[in-house]
Amino acid sequence: MSHIAVVGAGIAGLTVADELQSAGHVVSLLEKSQGPGGRCATRRSAAGPFDHGAPSFTATTAAFRAQVTAWRDAGWVAVEGGRRESTGFEAPLRACGFPSMNTLAQQIARSLSSGVDMRTDTPVASIEPSDHDAADTGAQTGWRLRLLDGRLDTTRFDAVVVAVPAEQAAVLLGSDSALAEAMRQTCSDPCWTVMAAWPNQLPTLQGEYRSTDPLGVLSLARRDDARIDRGNVPGIGSRWVLHATPYWSADHLDAAAADVIADLVGALATQSGVDIAAPVHAAAHRWRYGQVPKPRPEPCGWNAMLRLGSCGDAWHGGARGADRPRVDGVERAWLSGRALAREMIRSLPRD
Ligand SMILES: Cc1cc2nc3c(=O)[nH]c(=O)nc-3n(C[C@H](O)[C@H](O)[C@H](O)COP(=O)(O)OP(=O)(O)OC[C@H]3O[C@@H](n4cnc5c(N)ncnc54)[C@H](O)[C@@H]3O)c2cc1C
Repeated sequence: MSHIAVVGAGIAGLTVADELQSAGHVVSLLEKSQGPGGRCATRRSAAGPFDHGAPSFTATTAAFRAQVTAWRDAGWVAVEGGRRESTGFEAPLRACGFPSMNTLAQQIARSLSSGVDMRTDTPVASIEPSDHDAADTGAQTGWRLRLLDGRLDTTRFDAVVVAVPAEQAAVLLGSDSALAEAMRQTCSDPCWTVMAAWPNQLPTLQGEYRSTDPLGVLSLARRDDARIDRGNVPGIGSRWVLHATPYWSADHLDAAAADVIADLVGALATQSGVDIAAPVHAAAHRWRYGQVPKPRPEPCGWNAMLRLGSCGDAWHGGARGADRPRVDGVERAWLSGRALAREMIRSLPRD
């Protein structure tokens, strides 16, 4: 049995932690934020909740479809599609956390809690060879984690998994130049997101507005309160989440939140042709690392000698072809976490 540190409690980190603990390993899950979920995020506000990260996700592979079906049966996600049509064609399954995107991660984390030592508000700054082993054998066989406040965590880990966005993983994986380089070469698109609420419904706008112009301002405007069981907030008639395009987000990376709100609400009015008043509630969030346009083809990264691994949506891009649908970020994160756990279980000693 090994003691494994998993850095990052998004879908990938939660998945790898779940599989490793089920195989009998001891797992510590270290997350820099207040709670799990990462980019499957929900922001609470006086105007109600907003799913301001991934709004939903598809399930295209048999393994993930089975997992999503189990989550649905547990009441953790709401699912659309997937029914077999008369033609024999099975529509892709699309799911969202129920009642919020973040609920899914919270439920997975809760189901782990007995076997996994979960530490939130714990940002990891670096992964360092264990002094103890270096002195005894001259070879590095264990790891310790230095936290952002400079403290060296006292736990010695046999293996470490890095389950954070590629750019942040590249920094943490410095002990393995190949893994670090693989992550350095993988880029995430930024995404400015606006959460806005109005006292009324916006005239003529339906639940979702998508733009196909990659050089425009808005890529998606989605009515967030239209989801099942979202509840009503007095004085709020509609809540919307607006996503800027990667192009616009990169070009306005350091813009002030107030300007981003004005620009995105203005773009919604222009692009939809609807006259839109100023919202009664508005906030902006910058995802510096939003989605990965070109994930690596390998399922995950694992250095069996160093016992250092990497998983997440930067991986599991597979070989794309006309006959293979694109696998979205949440599904890739889950597939990658599972693939890494299985590889580790095969290679780590059992006792
Ligand atoms: C605006 C937006 C829209 C999206 N739309 C979709 C969509 O429609 N469909 C879809 O499938 N996907 C979508 N995605 C992508 C999807 O959210 C991600 O691909 C997926 O959630 C990635 O999961 P992950 O576990 O790999 O990483 P993350 O969810 O990023 O989890 C990583 C975790 O690591 C933590 N962390 C980072 N650094 C450290 C550190 N040093 N120490 C400790 N913890 C750390 C973070 O706080 C985070 O909790 C979208 C994302 C965004 C932002």
